[in-house]
Amino acid sequence: MAPTPLEAEIRRRIALAGPMPVRQYMALCLTHPEHGYYMNRDPFGRAGDFVTSPEVSQIFGELAGLWAASVWQAMGAPENVRLVELGPGRGTLMLDAMRAANVVPAFRAALVVHLIEISPALRARQEEMLKGIDVPKLWHDSFDEVPDGPAIVLANEFFDALPVYQAVKQINGWYERMVGIDERGNLAFSIADEPMPLFDQLLTPAVRNAPLGSLFEWRTDNLALELGRRITRQGGAALIVDYGHIESAIGETMQAVGRHGFADPLGMPGQVDLTAHVDFQALRLAAESMGVRAHGPLDQAEFLRRMGIERRATALKSAVTPDKAKDIDVAVARLTGEGRTGMGKLFKAIAFTDPKIAGLPGFIR
Ligand code: SAH
Repeated sequence: MAPTPLEAEIRRRIALAGPMPVRQYMALCLTHPEHGYYMNRDPFGRAGDFVTSPEVSQIFGELAGLWAASVWQAMGAPENVRLVELGPGRGTLMLDAMRAANVVPAFRAALVVHLIEISPALRARQEEMLKGIDVPKLWHDSFDEVPDGPAIVLANEFFDALPVYQAVKQINGWYERMVGIDERGNLAFSIADEPMPLFDQLLTPAVRNAPLGSLFEWRTDNLALELGRRITRQGGAALIVDYGHIESAIGETMQAVGRHGFADPLGMPGQVDLTAHVDFQALRLAAESMGVRAHGPLDQAEFLRRMGIERRATALKSAVTPDKAKDIDVAVARLTGEGRTGMGKLFKAIAFTDPKIAGLPGFIR
């Protein structure tokens, strides 16, 4: 099979500069300006590569909207607030959140929506989705472009799409994992020539004491630090929902998904999605270091129950045919269920708040 255009580009870079860190490979695969996976496609939904919670049921985005509205009230109902979404995909969550926010008209009137989206294709999709929503909307490439002021931030399946570094433990230290070319001319994993100096000292004891050969993944803390700093200094909160582990742990979680099935991460660069689990402990420590209060992580199922998913489902079902009502039950089971297709336990919700905010819906009962 001919290499994908991105594979040709990656091979050129390796030929010039040698093997590249896994993080750089993953970043190129997802967000290379021309050939990155997200840059020119809509990967969501039944016809796409994967389905996310807001695409499973409108209730997910509605509850996110109600969460945002009650956070705004807990903030003392500021006259101006930025409602920020990181990586909005098709814009479905925001559409459903805005409909739900109609129950608090003063919140709708106070907010400007800021959408953080790097993909031109998905930006266009979001504009189309949200064109009937009568609130000011602005798009940015990154969170630090959002103007100063109180902000409520939502992120579903965003952090898992941020590239990870990988390192492998050897007898004399941790070696960064790289992508190079093997003897047969294929893209292949390898490790750097030298261990990373002092890397041990950045690790939690559980990871530091892992057996030889263990693999550890991490992301830069930049975004969590920036979120934490913003929220502490200017007020607001963030709700982050994603799949991952509650404590930093060893193990490879980077995976490729295409057409609803697993694929080889090195197989079709730019043509399949690459993700890795979110390390909620690392996320939490970084945000807390900037002074925010952290809540959770809670299982997605528990968070949605506390936010009233059952009540909302009952209300929706009372207005539709029995067939449609069954679809709603299936969707709720998918969002809250366990097991292979359930998203209720694998996905977690964590929130960060300005410590001045007292009660937080969904987290404090
Ligand atoms: N939240 C949506 C989509 C999740 S997929 C949902 O739940 O359906 C990840 C989203 O983040 C996509 O919209 C993708 O284009 C965007 N994205 C990925 N990496 C990004 C980056 N570095 N900066 C900004 N947006 C990014």
